[in-house]
Amino acid sequence: STPVEEREFQAETRQLLDLMVHSVYSNKDSFLRELVSNASDALDKLRLEAYQNKDLDVDTSDLHITIERDPEARVLTIRDNGIGMSRDDVVGLIGTLARSGTAELRKKLAEAKDSAASQDLIGQFGIGFYSTFMVADTVTLLTRKAGETEGTKWESTGAGTYTIESVPDAPQGTSVTLHLKPADTDDALHDYADDAKIRELVKKYSDFIAWPIRMDVERTETVTPETDDDTDEATDAEPVTRTVVESQQLNSMKALWSKSKDEVEPEEYTEFYRHVSHAWDEPLETIALRAEGTFEYQALLFIPTQAPFDLFMRERNGGISLYVKRVFIMDDCEELIPEYLRFVKGVVDAADLSLNVSREILQQDRQIRAIRRRLTKKVLSTIKDIQTSRPEDYTTLWSQFGRAIKEGLINDQDNKDALLAISSFESTNDPDTMTTLADYVGRMKVGQDEIYYLTGESRQAMENSPHIEAFRAKGIEVLLLGDPVDEMWVGSVPEFDGKALRSIAKGEVDLDDDAGKSDDEKKEAATEREEREAKFADLTGWLTEALADHVKETRLSTRLTDSPACLVGDTFSFSPQMEKLYRASGQ
Ligand code: ADP
Ligand code: MG
Repeated sequence: STPVEEREFQAETRQLLDLMVHSVYSNKDSFLRELVSNASDALDKLRLEAYQNKDLDVDTSDLHITIERDPEARVLTIRDNGIGMSRDDVVGLIGTLARSGTAELRKKLAEAKDSAASQDLIGQFGIGFYSTFMVADTVTLLTRKAGETEGTKWESTGAGTYTIESVPDAPQGTSVTLHLKPADTDDALHDYADDAKIRELVKKYSDFIAWPIRMDVERTETVTPETDDDTDEATDAEPVTRTVVESQQLNSMKALWSKSKDEVEPEEYTEFYRHVSHAWDEPLETIALRAEGTFEYQALLFIPTQAPFDLFMRERNGGISLYVKRVFIMDDCEELIPEYLRFVKGVVDAADLSLNVSREILQQDRQIRAIRRRLTKKVLSTIKDIQTSRPEDYTTLWSQFGRAIKEGLINDQDNKDALLAISSFESTNDPDTMTTLADYVGRMKVGQDEIYYLTGESRQAMENSPHIEAFRAKGIEVLLLGDPVDEMWVGSVPEFDGKALRSIAKGEVDLDDDAGKSDDEKKEAATEREEREAKFADLTGWLTEALADHVKETRLSTRLTDSPACLVGDTFSFSPQMEKLYRASGQ
């Protein structure tokens, strides 16, 4: 074998590992679920690879996961004969925290005031392979990638460095060996090498895994020595007791997505959700769908409780995995769900696709498009139900995913009404609760026929904006749209419930209280306005000229009460925030 090389972990990985090593995270059991989950993914990938690449010379007749234990030595090994990793894979995937959102995590870790707060972050971020360092003081990974001849051994104590070396005789697949921490350091640690404990953990966290999880178990059996066949006489030999070791399958491989919701326990869904999403939170909602007939498919979708760190980063991961008749095809199948619902996790198992299906084919596929339409509508109607019947859950959901959902208003014309119905906004009505558009309309003043809004960078900036003065003085509610995405969709949503959406920072907003006035009164008001304008014509004319480089026109305003002047955009011009966005994106 080649010389052992010692390498340093990246700074953020080191910080994370440190947290694992000294973890007081209450649910240390998670390590086993994470290792089994990774093994299962590796088996999925190998089966697909072997199917698609006929030149790959591997035996896929008995793909499985084994758990080996040595209680005396306090050693536990999780082994799979899946796809394995090359040396570069090991360095890239195991040696670095190859996750988008890591920088974000690091920032949050630095901000977390005490260790309990940082421990909470562990659960939030969902630490995969590194969770082993909660229970082990040395972790050894041995792996060989399917199709390659040389294997790789990786080892670390979770301190600043790891070692890596090439080994010629590694079996294909991956084994992760945990040298468990001494039992007396922590109660939770004492039985991780115990046969009953492992059985319990697998049952609890990994029962649905679609590959057999096996463990050698000892069983004592009592046998009577065989009788002599020829004479058929009973011998007087005493029965003897002996210990036999036999391989047992620990999981039932129950396929959750082919079951209806009432056949599955909520805890089973939770663990399945954690497996597919690589997250550690609870699902806020589980959606089980089944279609029979021409396009046969099953879907099991989850709305998480917590937004992942990378929800707004380019290289997000997760999403929905595609299976064809139980065979894994791909992760994060973008064709199955619109981008604005990228926080939805789960699986779709379609019966009639080819196992050789590619992303290019998927984009053209009628069946996939039909599934996408149905899933989208189903997710939106589910959110609507949550909004109606579980207001607190809806508030959580909206605070985590509202910004993503509003992206749908920009280009999902088909679902615009459904999207508007489930959306909530801040408003001048009540600083503490958000409002739906329907509720806003319900509070509109007699004669008000438009929905007023203001966009801006923060609630405070908007509240202090001169544009809002007259509205406040007259007690007219204004929606305060503070998300960058609000700038993008307001332009493409002209109305809700027959009421135009109107920016109070653009064009002329008519607040002259004409509504409810008689024709004479209106005429009078108009005359008064003209007189006022004539009186100030010299001033506005002069201002327009003096400010010619900066403004198009100066006019008298009905929208101010305290401020002497404000800047107003043309009805169809960009708002200042929008201009900033465009400038920032280089357009
Ligand atoms: P995640 O599973 O969320 O990607 P992990 O930390 O659990 O994060 O694993 C990191 C990566 O290491 C995996 O994405 C996978 O590519 C690789 N990996 C981990 N365990 C195995 C395994 N048993 N076989 C093959 N690859 C593995
Ligand atoms: Mg993992």
